[in-house]
Amino acid sequence: MSRLSGKVAIITGAAQGMGAAHAKAFVEQGAKVVLTDLNEEKGNAFASELGENAIFVKQNVTSEEDWANVIKKAEEAFGPINVLVNNAGISMAKNMLEMSLDEYMKIVNINQVSVFLGMKAVAASMMKAGGGSIVNISSINGLVGGAVGYTDTKFAVRGMSKAAALNLAPMGIRVNSVHPGVIATPMIMQEDSKAAIEEFAKHIPLKRVSQPEEVSQLVVFLASDESSYSTGSEFVVDGGITA
Ligand code: NAD
Repeated sequence: MSRLSGKVAIITGAAQGMGAAHAKAFVEQGAKVVLTDLNEEKGNAFASELGENAIFVKQNVTSEEDWANVIKKAEEAFGPINVLVNNAGISMAKNMLEMSLDEYMKIVNINQVSVFLGMKAVAASMMKAGGGSIVNISSINGLVGGAVGYTDTKFAVRGMSKAAALNLAPMGIRVNSVHPGVIATPMIMQEDSKAAIEEFAKHIPLKRVSQPEEVSQLVVFLASDESSYSTGSEFVVDGGITA
């Protein structure tokens, strides 16, 4: 039997990168998946590739109204929701002294406020489903320092996951955070940063960056009943960087 058969899942930021890899893995494991993203063209094209068990809904994860629309469309298409993967995010490698308040608030809204909105929006549907699993994508920068803005939001996602796990446990909803290291996605593999990433990889204990699919295996585990006793925990997938 497939690891996610019978599950209905929402994955944000699923038009490319890790979100797309998770969506593919979920469909392969028998889930029905709602992919969301700002990028409508890419998201629609990828959902069509995945077949009849995937649909795309355009969403800005910072909008409460968009969250209500995503939940409505997901329930209409597939029924009550069992899994939410809060994956959409942006990076901003800037020195704090050069960062404007607008830039700072932008990353806080996209990486952190979105997780709060998503968990609140999905809870009622998960209760209808008899429980659920929320997987919040943080980073190793939710464990150790990096750029201001990015690091703060990823620490917040880790803390919020623990606090929300306590709020939602009585309803049978589990909440965990995932902390990837350096993953080969469009976010980091830009033409001008590729060489620096390859150089950095030499210092990773496993001597390479990870492919998105290697993170998907962990996300599938957390979404599935295989992780039925895990909640309020952090799961690191970083090739040993933080060891
Ligand atoms: P990516 O840039 O390749 O993909 C992110 C997706 O999110 C894009 O499709 C983008 O359109 C979407 N998005 C951005 N803002 C949005 C918004 N406001 N509303 C809806 N969608 C929006 O990134 P990725 O590397 O796949 O990263 C996915 C997650 O993993 C992020 O939360 C990121 O911080 C985290 N992460 C990435 C790495 C890495 O090395 N790539 C490491 C640790 C954590």
